[in-house]
Amino acid sequence: MSDQLLSIVGVGKEEGRPIENPATGDVIGYAPDHTADDLDAAVGGAVEKQPEWARLGHSARSNYLNKMADAIDAHAEELAQLLTLESGKPLNGPNSRMEVSMCGDWLRANAEFETPSEVLVDDGEARAVLEYEPIGVVGAISPWNWPMMITIWQIAPALRMGNTVVVKPSENTPLSVLALVHVLNTVLPEGVLHAISGGREVGARMSEHAEIGKIMFTGSIATGRAIAAASADTLKRLTLELGGNDAAIILDDCDPAAIAEDLFWGAFINTGQTCAAVKRVYVADNIYDELCQALASIAQAVPMGPGTDENNVLGPLQNKGQRDIVAKLVDAARDSGAQILTGGQPSDGPGNFYPATIVTDIAPDNPLVVEEQFGPALPIVRYSNIDEAIGWANGLEVGLGASVWSADRNRAMDVARQIQAGTVWINNHARPDPRIPFGGIKQSGYGLEFGADGLKAVAVPKVYNG
Ligand code: NAD
Repeated sequence: MSDQLLSIVGVGKEEGRPIENPATGDVIGYAPDHTADDLDAAVGGAVEKQPEWARLGHSARSNYLNKMADAIDAHAEELAQLLTLESGKPLNGPNSRMEVSMCGDWLRANAEFETPSEVLVDDGEARAVLEYEPIGVVGAISPWNWPMMITIWQIAPALRMGNTVVVKPSENTPLSVLALVHVLNTVLPEGVLHAISGGREVGARMSEHAEIGKIMFTGSIATGRAIAAASADTLKRLTLELGGNDAAIILDDCDPAAIAEDLFWGAFINTGQTCAAVKRVYVADNIYDELCQALASIAQAVPMGPGTDENNVLGPLQNKGQRDIVAKLVDAARDSGAQILTGGQPSDGPGNFYPATIVTDIAPDNPLVVEEQFGPALPIVRYSNIDEAIGWANGLEVGLGASVWSADRNRAMDVARQIQAGTVWINNHARPDPRIPFGGIKQSGYGLEFGADGLKAVAVPKVYNG
């Protein structure tokens, strides 16, 4: 790790908030405890710089986005190593190295999207044209599960559209985001991108800040509601990407052996700590036992351990609180009579490890099914009637993602049309693509990210009439 990045992670400082390695419990560094005054100073700097940044125009800002991607690539391995130390996620598999490389992908994609002027009316008498203008200062508040990638999802479109940005990472994973912002600021003009490391009180202050025009928020439903309430006085624009409890519905014509691997990773990506991962599976009766066994075999074979070990592809939970939530839900499922096909017993060693766990013969209203477990424990519910499965899938207050799996695309689409979710994947799950808009419905939030729609979400429409 370079000296600059080492100083960001507070090596040798012992001041600020200690950050622990989730795999060992060892302190890896110290995060600055920024205050509301620090936030005001950052917002002030962003306000001052914004008109100049906006005046650069799209092509110059796109060039900056590409330079940001190149800077990340140049520091990719040190960023991935730091991310692994702080988040626990392994370097390999769908984890740290993939997350860092996706940051570059999203920046480059956002450099390419266009928001051309839209001629609304031009009939010889009237002429009206709609254009998208910057909002001003955008606040980006992120969670701990994909700290670098979600930060990029928020700041890439915001910067591209001519806004300046103040980032507030999760108090659980500030170092990764501070290091990322540091790398980005080696190529950005000074004052365009700011990072404030603080807890919920700093996030709360951002939500009511008069000089922040929009909050991009990814996190829990409870916090999303708090932000919506706190932003009411300033009528801030909001994008709220909140919690989910994604269902996968497996139709009776699937070949269990053919789908098991993709379904497993749709659920256990980042050791289950992914907003739009499979969190409950509904499987047709005729293939239920075979598919459950196939998933359990994979769960037993996939190596879990410290993320710095190149062999591991599943890691610890990022924090102890999340591990306790998973353990409590699995214990309650076991007590209710559900079968723990594999896993279910946390190991004694250090770190927040919980084994990959497959729970079968579980009731559709069991808490492990209807609450977001956000970890490596997957409940699999048997169904004999597809309408019943669709009803269970739609029965919760959340609607982020879902998937339908079938050998027949038309059958899958017929079910997919009946599912209440922002995205329904067919025969895969949890595969974000920078070109494809993503967002939740119901209590999973509102607003779209990615693609040209994502650019428009961090802009204000302005109509020229006449
Ligand atoms: P969280 O809501 O506890 O925290 C997220 C961020 O909000 C943190 O930076 C935190 O400091 C900040 N915050 C806390 N209270 C605040 C307040 N009152 N005002 C403003 N900011 C405040 O969520 P978390 O535990 O970090 O993340 C896990 C949750 O995020 C899960 O529910 C998961 O489903 C959800 N998530 C959703 C998506 C998505 O795209 N929809 C992606 C990742 C995670």
